[in-house]
Amino acid sequence: QRLVSAAGQWDEEAIDRAIRPKRLEDYVGQRAMREQMSIFIQAALGRGEALDHVLIFGPPGLGKTTLANIIANELGVNVRHTSGPVLEKAGDLAALLTNLEPRDVLFIDEIHRLGAVVEEVLYPAMEDYQIDIMIGEGPAARSIKLDLPPFTLVGATTRAGLLTSPLRDRFGIVHRLEFYTVDELGRIVARSARILGSEITPEGALEVARRARGTPRIANRLLRRVRDFAQVMADGRITEAVAGRALEMLDVDPNGFDQLDRQLLLTMMEKFDGGPVGLDNLAAAIGEERGTIEDVLEPYLIQQGFIMRTPRGRIATRHAYLHFGLKPPQRTTV
Ligand code: ADP
Repeated sequence: QRLVSAAGQWDEEAIDRAIRPKRLEDYVGQRAMREQMSIFIQAALGRGEALDHVLIFGPPGLGKTTLANIIANELGVNVRHTSGPVLEKAGDLAALLTNLEPRDVLFIDEIHRLGAVVEEVLYPAMEDYQIDIMIGEGPAARSIKLDLPPFTLVGATTRAGLLTSPLRDRFGIVHRLEFYTVDELGRIVARSARILGSEITPEGALEVARRARGTPRIANRLLRRVRDFAQVMADGRITEAVAGRALEMLDVDPNGFDQLDRQLLLTMMEKFDGGPVGLDNLAAAIGEERGTIEDVLEPYLIQQGFIMRTPRGRIATRHAYLHFGLKPPQRTTV
């Protein structure tokens, strides 16, 4: 694989492609999901049928796209990529569907953003491998049924709750991706470093992993920056000390929080006395969309015990106060 562009620069896209796992066995973590998926894939292969439709949900960067590619790879079929917002018209989807080869994978990212009309086309396609298309206009218009090759729809979304229930019900296999442990992220970092030809110690990999916010995409991004640092400021070897110095220079928080995480937590504590505060108020205060808070920021902070979701709104926990060296308020609830 060519990782260096004509100018001798490492090409970021090529790097991405090279470190993205291609087989299920290289997909780190998510063990329960991997074991089940491996059985479903073998069963479909054994019967010579298309795999049942798969819905994958989880925050950005946890490996949804990677998994869709792996599924196609393991099935030995092609994968077509598209996304909810791109499929504007029913005809866009129909064109994609009618061009599939038998047992191909169609990957729809952000599937919760499909328009209602497009979604309607998907129902019979998923259920009976058929679509209804309209021919002609006005009084002469009529609809005809087209048979499709059997195919597998892989849908990805940040939250399963965003899908309409008729759509959700048509997926036979539903998996939620979890945040990765430090150990798992360490393995991902070590593997990526090996592919990039960088020497890294196990402690160096863990140092990067600890600050990656439970997210492989962030782990790989930090690795690339640490690798630059090691090359310029040290002898190229990524040790714990080198990784630590690099991450400090990059201003990466020891908990892996990025600037928005910090802003959200500090706003909760300083402007709203730690809550409870409603999502809309929080969104307005930090100038972000409510959906970004719910899908991108909050899941990790909740998983790490910094935020609690209550019926009356979000609360910053004691843990959050202590992390920022602030004095927790006297509360009876938390
Ligand atoms: P999503 O589609 O959920 O936003 P991606 O599939 O694009 O996330 O994953 C982001 C990056 O993280 C990928 O380029 C891949 O290299 C890496 N990655 C994700 N999941 C894993 C995993 N389980 N094992 C190893 N690397 C992973």
